Amino acid sequence: MKILVIEDEQNVAAFVQQGLKETGYEVFLAYNGANGLDLLTQQNFDLIILDIMLPGMDGREIASRVRQMGYKDLPILMLTALGTTENIVKGLDAGADDYLIKPFKFKELLARIRALSRRSGTSTVAHQIYKILDLELDSDSKSVKRAGKLIKLTSTEFRLLEFLMKNQNKVLSRIDILENVWDINFNMGTNVVDVYVNYLRNKIDKNFEPKLIQTVIGMGYMIKG
Ligand code: CA
Repeated sequence: MKILVIEDEQNVAAFVQQGLKETGYEVFLAYNGANGLDLLTQQNFDLIILDIMLPGMDGREIASRVRQMGYKDLPILMLTALGTTENIVKGLDAGADDYLIKPFKFKELLARIRALSRRSGTSTVAHQIYKILDLELDSDSKSVKRAGKLIKLTSTEFRLLEFLMKNQNKVLSRIDILENVWDINFNMGTNVVDVYVNYLRNKIDKNFEPKLIQTVIGMGYMIKG
């Protein structure tokens, strides 16, 4: 498995590179975005580890360029020292799949890499289609339809909807959602969940009836059919 690391802090880059090599990954290092995007076109990578604060292009811009360049399913793990929800949401919005707050334990980094590569790898799980009234999610082709209309979701929105639909008619707490959709297992704000539920509502509920995603006050969210 080949990993591209874009990180300007040499000590962090060296630590990540050495650890990943010892774990058996092939690692390519770039100290800025331009260099990283160059490498991206030269090699077939399985994952990108991307620092958010970089000289020149920042991580968010790089993530959206990577997506624009057509690497739609290439997992991007963002590294950030900024633990605020706003920055995290911006990063995820720009196309990152997950993030890790610095400083982090190497063990934690490995866990995220494994989770992300499991997600993007060809699944051996049987073809799953979830249906709630006229809403349909196909976990294999990663497509979503409402009333027969194809709806485009980002990868995070898709995972969120998939998690809600798998747990149809069950109230899910924000922490539950965070842990399952973002693989986050440390304490942080849960606003990101509200932000994404809102995105999802705009796409799958706003122009349709009945509304499927319900807010359960004081508890969380539920998709009901
Ligand atoms: Ca940096």
